[in-house]
Amino acid sequence: MDPLDIVSNLHNIKPVYQPVVSAITHDVTGYEVLGRYYTGKEWISLGPFFHDDDVPEEFKVEVDQHLLEIALTDMVASNQETYLFINRNAKQLMVNDGQDLLDTLIRFEQKGVSMGRIILEVTEHDFDEAFDSLHHLLLYYKTYGIQIAVDNVGAKSSNIDRIRQLKPHILKIDTKLIRRHNEDGFQDIMYSLSMLARRIGAALLFENIEDSYQLYVAWKHGGRFYQGYYLAQPAFKGTPQSPLQVDVAERVEGYVRREKVLVEKRLRFILSWEDKLKKLLPQWQGPKKVDAFIHAVTRYFNEESFRMYICNSDGQQISSNFRKRKDEWVLEENKRGSNWSFRPYFLENMMHMKTWKKAMLSDVYSDIDTRETIRTFSYPLSDQHFLFIDIRYAFLYENECLLI
Ligand code: CA
Repeated sequence: MDPLDIVSNLHNIKPVYQPVVSAITHDVTGYEVLGRYYTGKEWISLGPFFHDDDVPEEFKVEVDQHLLEIALTDMVASNQETYLFINRNAKQLMVNDGQDLLDTLIRFEQKGVSMGRIILEVTEHDFDEAFDSLHHLLLYYKTYGIQIAVDNVGAKSSNIDRIRQLKPHILKIDTKLIRRHNEDGFQDIMYSLSMLARRIGAALLFENIEDSYQLYVAWKHGGRFYQGYYLAQPAFKGTPQSPLQVDVAERVEGYVRREKVLVEKRLRFILSWEDKLKKLLPQWQGPKKVDAFIHAVTRYFNEESFRMYICNSDGQQISSNFRKRKDEWVLEENKRGSNWSFRPYFLENMMHMKTWKKAMLSDVYSDIDTRETIRTFSYPLSDQHFLFIDIRYAFLYENECLLI
């Protein structure tokens, strides 16, 4: 399509709306505005027009302003208190210092569309150029109550610091990330993104959700908003009241049920391990006979564990390492005296065990030595001595509840 044809035929351009679903109400909470162009035969997406670097920014601004006018007029007419997500790239916003957009929004604010209902989506890869000017402009928009979303987060992890500076209200995550990375890679990206979101107080929005599994992943990773063909296709104005293709509430009920069963199973593992150790506790004869005690424990955790040791309350290892090699438990005496207090949560967890007199199971993490995904089960033998049982990957893998 010739960009000139598009910009000189604005009457052939109309917005479509893609519903954004709230994880709290399980219902549509807003719409993202996308552009469609009528060729005389069919309606086509304006995506390629907007993403084409050769199209002059002034053209894009004109088309976007036209779409926005219609969308805001629709909003006034519909009387719904929904959010409107609009897309702008950095260069477009820089045209005329972003004043066109603001003027339009101010005009419609007088007709009843509050600025707080507008969510401006900027793309992460826009941050590469002129970040400071963009940052200033977005700060300025924010003072009007306009919300900022960063589109396509996670595509480039190098922008974490800039996102932090920008403090957007929403981070939009492309669910295609799940498909592009393996399970571990995706988990790691999600871990840092949700940490970032928590730190800056941003909500996560998962877009391009195409099936039930992806909706589950979005729910599981703390998605506050969902968007994608699985839930609803973009549609022209005048769509029925409930345009959702799936019953989100019912789906989430299913996820909750599944998750509860898994957590319960995991807790049962912890209880049964704790039980085994309680029965072995009479054999604990203090730090002098520490290796003998572990030796007694090994055969009760033969399936689960590949490594065990005991530390005192300062984080110092007072036993040998018991290490399973092939089918034999081997003693590594040289590990005695190692200090583990520097490890994240080590002291915190020890104080917990001491205070509550309860066993603990760590998160899933990568062992420094073996690089394998493991978890550590720990148990207070006394106020001063703590047993650590590293659970091997194969055992976690066989029991899904231990992997989440
Ligand atoms: Ca977008």
